[in-house]
Amino acid sequence: MPKSLDQDTIILCRSCDLAVQRRALPSNVRALCPRCHTALYDVPYCSVNGMLALCIAAILFYIPANFLPVLEIHFLGSIRATTVYESAVAVWVQGYWIVAVAVIAAAVIAPGLLILSILLQIIIVKRRLHSDFWQQTYRRLLKNHGLLSQLSMLEIYVISFLVAAFNLSDFSDIYLGMGTFCFGMLFLVILFLQREYNLEHMWRMVHEE
Ligand SMILES: [Zn+2]
Repeated sequence: MPKSLDQDTIILCRSCDLAVQRRALPSNVRALCPRCHTALYDVPYCSVNGMLALCIAAILFYIPANFLPVLEIHFLGSIRATTVYESAVAVWVQGYWIVAVAVIAAAVIAPGLLILSILLQIIIVKRRLHSDFWQQTYRRLLKNHGLLSQLSMLEIYVISFLVAAFNLSDFSDIYLGMGTFCFGMLFLVILFLQREYNLEHMWRMVHEE
């Protein structure tokens, strides 16, 4: 047995139980089992520039998604258009304030904070801000990332717009306008952003003193 082997660096293949020593890999490379070619491990990777582009796209969609009407209903000559805020306020007025708070938190605040948090992390990494203040901020952002990504639930609203449009379309005309488009695009951009984002990789970028 080579003397450099130690318990932490040996992993077992999931398929054939072959013991393989873990080595440092370049990014985008995956280690395969030499016997059965099962994927063993890879280096967590995220493209910082790709995430920056997605963040900027998300901010561009975020503003119209929240301020333009997401649903426009034409019924017997009357036209009703509502934004995410107005729908939350309407629910609040009817007494369901918990629902209203949940809507604002999950559809407006959490996605906004998530985008800003990732943007700030990217700026800290890209500008190499190594001072104590920025490194502490970076750690704090990473610690809260899981909570923010769990709280932002845009998919529920995208689905609910579609369900509402489908249900109401029998007796009124429904128009899905620019706001709906931006909301849908915001959902897609955040989906890709979270796919690109790798928390483990971001933790490795913490500046070691
Ligand atoms: Zn194997």
